[in-house]
Amino acid sequence: MSITQLPWRRPCREWSLSRVAVVTGASRGIGAAIAKRLSEAGYELALVASSPWLEAPVYSSRVVTYQADVSDYEAVKAMVARIKADFGRIDVLINNAGITRDGLILQMAEADYDRVMDINLKGQFNLIRHISPIMLRQKSGRIINISSVAGLIGNAGQTNYATAKAGTIGLTKSVARELAPRGITCNAIAPGFIETDMTKDLEVPLQQMIPLGVSGQPEDIAATAVFLASEGARYITGEVIRVDGGMGM
Ligand code: NAP
Repeated sequence: MSITQLPWRRPCREWSLSRVAVVTGASRGIGAAIAKRLSEAGYELALVASSPWLEAPVYSSRVVTYQADVSDYEAVKAMVARIKADFGRIDVLINNAGITRDGLILQMAEADYDRVMDINLKGQFNLIRHISPIMLRQKSGRIINISSVAGLIGNAGQTNYATAKAGTIGLTKSVARELAPRGITCNAIAPGFIETDMTKDLEVPLQQMIPLGVSGQPEDIAATAVFLASEGARYITGEVIRVDGGMGM
């Protein structure tokens, strides 16, 4: 056997290397729950938030934290280059970072409209724009964008947010069509009312609005995200999955 035929000379691609997932907005709430579940499923993790990380979360696999504002195109470009240098590959992108700046349309400040669009929608574009070339070279990848039931049915007081989240659906379907021939899937999850910092000050008549009658937990979204990243979801692309207790049906 020549040296090139020895198993340890095979290209990395053929080794059962750990798969690598990038999760934005991973410092708390839904993003943290997705990161934890992906770690339990064996993924190495590149975790992103805009505030400084005081310490890296301890999960069962390798974790590296990155501080970047997802709305900043150049900052995301530099961060993705660092992630590629640190891990060597990117298999899964979870586009989860998001904010709310609620207000009625007659009172909504331009800055609040712009900031929500910049983080929630352009932020997802920025990550896909810089990570998809890596996935294209690998001829595989999973992109999962977090939308919202507000993007499907609208919500009074959230014109900016619902517009961004509806935009996520167009982004998801267009990217899914473009990248499908190269073995990359792109799907969206539309959560309903999930208990996190984002919703802690909202008073919602759960029984009236949600057929299942209770709010959701970040783990409910994490379970769907891990499924979409898994081999079992390899034939699903361009789909929007509501995880909302029936709120949006
Ligand atoms: P959350 O608890 O407020 O967490 C938001 C996360 O996004 C944090 O890690 C935050 O970290 C990060 N983030 C915010 N701005 C960022 C920026 N410019 N760059 C990078 N990271 C940023 O919110 P959540 O409830 O978990 O929501 C997660 C996603 O689910 C969002 O896209 C949200 O719109 C969507 N969603 C939530 C609900 C719900 O009921 N909770 C329903 C539908 C959809 P830093 O503050 O440190 O940056």
